[in-house]
Amino acid sequence: MGGYRLIGHPLGHSMSPQIHERLFALEGRTDSYSLFPFPPDKLETQVPILRGLEGFNITIPYKQAILPFLDSLDDSAALYGAVNTVRVQDGRMTGYNTDCDGFLRTMQAHGFSLKTSVCVAGAGGVGRMFAIEAVRQGAELTIAVRDLSKGQALAREISERFGCSVQVSTLDALDRPFGLIINATPVGMSPQTGVSPLPGPVTARAGAVFDCIYNPRETRLLCDARKAGVPFAGGMEMLVWQAAVAHEIWHGSQFLPAQIDLLVDEMTGKRGKQMRNIILCGFMGCGKTTVGQHLARLTGLSYVDLDAEIEFEQGVPIPEIFAAQGEPYFRDLEHQAVKRLAGRSRCVVSTGGGALTFRRNIDALSREDLVVFLDAAFPICYQRIRWSDRPIVQSSTPEELYALFEARRTCYLEASSFTVDASQTVAQIAGEIAARYRCMDWEKA
Ligand code: NAP
Repeated sequence: MGGYRLIGHPLGHSMSPQIHERLFALEGRTDSYSLFPFPPDKLETQVPILRGLEGFNITIPYKQAILPFLDSLDDSAALYGAVNTVRVQDGRMTGYNTDCDGFLRTMQAHGFSLKTSVCVAGAGGVGRMFAIEAVRQGAELTIAVRDLSKGQALAREISERFGCSVQVSTLDALDRPFGLIINATPVGMSPQTGVSPLPGPVTARAGAVFDCIYNPRETRLLCDARKAGVPFAGGMEMLVWQAAVAHEIWHGSQFLPAQIDLLVDEMTGKRGKQMRNIILCGFMGCGKTTVGQHLARLTGLSYVDLDAEIEFEQGVPIPEIFAAQGEPYFRDLEHQAVKRLAGRSRCVVSTGGGALTFRRNIDALSREDLVVFLDAAFPICYQRIRWSDRPIVQSSTPEELYALFEARRTCYLEASSFTVDASQTVAQIAGEIAARYRCMDWEKA
């Protein structure tokens, strides 16, 4: 059977399939991920199906209920007594908890320290994990709840287990500043978005705020934090990171923070369908192909080589098109290919060296695309292309190529919105472009 699923009930509008499918694409895999909802009294009868999968995730109400059916438990799951990820190997199921990794990586990405006074609002499943982790990292912990007895029970458990003192308060009685506030209640979640679990003045005096709710992207709590100039982070990052860690467990994959950042933006709808292309231009030999392929892996966008597309369509290599039909004919084919780009999105495109020296091609690109000039010195390019079968290299002296390089450089500078020093390493160049792409103002673009 194989494949990957999410079990829970109800699963409604879960974003997990979208997130996992994008992570599979980043890994270069074509696995399927689907929702598998069933009512709680059916868990036991579904276990044989679960054993036939490659892996699955678990959400409410099965994070604890699955425990008796597992063959082994990773430390992460044993620590919190809850499982959200299962790896299946030869029918044996091992349980993990990646919520904690998702949480810690989000804290790390924002530079939020847990070694401070931490207030966790809520004492349910995820609140318990935040509270335990905060204490493990050296926090001075306050648990804030609506029902004091539930907060006290968790505080007692943590005090006994970790030998520390834990404060308990009702949410509305909070009145002191905290280094970090964490919301682990559903208060403020769509559709009841106008409310915050905490009094506004407490939020405004916090050192930082994390809300584990991911819908909406900015909850009322986060809005209060933003207005008071308090650094904040939302739950989508944790959701994406916990999913990414599941892939680390399933396939040993590693994701870069830049890849996760882009995925978070995509999932929060900051870009969604508008996500535009990155167009790489520059002289022959500047590294467009290598950088483009690396950048595509880094960002999760598709890689497109414009010249390779023309060759595929025509069924013959470009030198043969030049020889048989002449350059003007090739330039027309190239222009048609550039025009088609305007109808595409989410691509990293490496263009031929001549493509963006023509005004009609520059005009055909969407103005929302990020056009990047890979600026490499002539000797670097020449070293790489001197033995190439490109028609223009074959028919030119080094001096003529240098003159062409100078003339084209002016065109690339004019066509591009961003220039990168292409003498850096491939990883540095791709990293710089990915960072710039992420900072583009999509709403204004
Ligand atoms: P849970 O086990 O049901 O716990 C919810 C907690 O919130 C309980 O302490 C509950 O108090 C409290 N609460 C509920 N409604 C409240 C209200 N109106 N006012 C004050 N307190 C209230 O749920 P959970 O699994 O911990 O999840 C909590 C939230 O975290 C959900 O919104 C979930 O979507 C989010 N979450 C996000 C991620 C992520 O990756 N970003 C991961 C897991 C969970 P009582 O016990 O008194 O009812």
